[in-house]
Amino acid sequence: SMASPALLMRVVASAYSVAEKAATIVRKVMAAGDLGIVEKTGANDLQTKADRLVQMSICASLARKFPKVTIIGEEELSSDEVAEELIEDGHCEEILKKTCPAQYAGIKEEELVIWVDPLDGTKEYTEGLLDHVTVLIGIAYGGKAIAGVINQPYYNYEAGADAVLGRTIWGVLGIGAFGFQLTEAPAGKHIIVTTRSHSSALVNDCISALKPDSVIRVGGAGNKIIQLIEGKASAYVFASPGCKKWDTCAPEAILHAVGGKITDIHGNSFQYNKEVKHMNSAGVLATLRNYDYYASRIPNTVKQSLVP
Ligand code: AMP
Ligand code: MG
Ligand code: MG
Repeated sequence: SMASPALLMRVVASAYSVAEKAATIVRKVMAAGDLGIVEKTGANDLQTKADRLVQMSICASLARKFPKVTIIGEEELSSDEVAEELIEDGHCEEILKKTCPAQYAGIKEEELVIWVDPLDGTKEYTEGLLDHVTVLIGIAYGGKAIAGVINQPYYNYEAGADAVLGRTIWGVLGIGAFGFQLTEAPAGKHIIVTTRSHSSALVNDCISALKPDSVIRVGGAGNKIIQLIEGKASAYVFASPGCKKWDTCAPEAILHAVGGKITDIHGNSFQYNKEVKHMNSAGVLATLRNYDYYASRIPNTVKQSLVP
């Protein structure tokens, strides 16, 4: 008989279904119209009812199946019991059929850390820029992002009633990434994607120094990685603190699974062990291809302003 699938593949398969359940919650809260907006550190750092319910759903669902895994979510929530209707028990069969890379086949629950951003792009969600929103479930082992799920609840929402609403992208290092069409950005063009709601003089100075052909300003770290892997942008450049480990873990795993690269603005890789500082203090630089072109052109003045 077949050996039971490796833990990592079971976690990714469950995270896929949990992220789809999360997307239904994100859409339901918006449709109901009462977002229950709370300011965290200020007007540009918001939490909605969707952020809260989705985090409860994801964390409780994964913790029930994988009790010894460390799960770190963005939102600080009261530890009330989670309503049973928020629990997702399913998994994606297609993922379970893939062979776990040998170097991950022996991973134990205690060795995994799951970084959860229940709703990335909250500011844009509250402003009706719905396709900027993603749900991020990143899986780390040995301090590295090795697998991830990105759900985009409003993918296709402007494509008409016949289009399927929402999609789930997943990836594992050594297997690849699925749920989208990998596309390179136009050759010879420098298209930079960056924040739309967390700009600063430093963010803009850094972009100017790279002399881009165009700049795309959209919300969400997950959304910006999607822009890279679908060839809409050639580099994600954010010379500022603000992004946290739950913003970059799932996107990093998917980008690395297709041969891309993400670091801070100095070129340091991110660490995802459970003790790590949450803030990515020295910003984000990510590309699918030609990482060195952008990394070599980040001004020293910008680097000196961002302490890792
Ligand atoms: P953005 O590109 O502005 O959508 O940011 C990507 C992620 O980092 C989102 O989850 C933001 O909430 C977070 N982020 C970036 N800058 C800040 C900031 N100044 N304050 C709070 N969150 C931030
Ligand atoms: Mg986020
Ligand atoms: Mg969030």
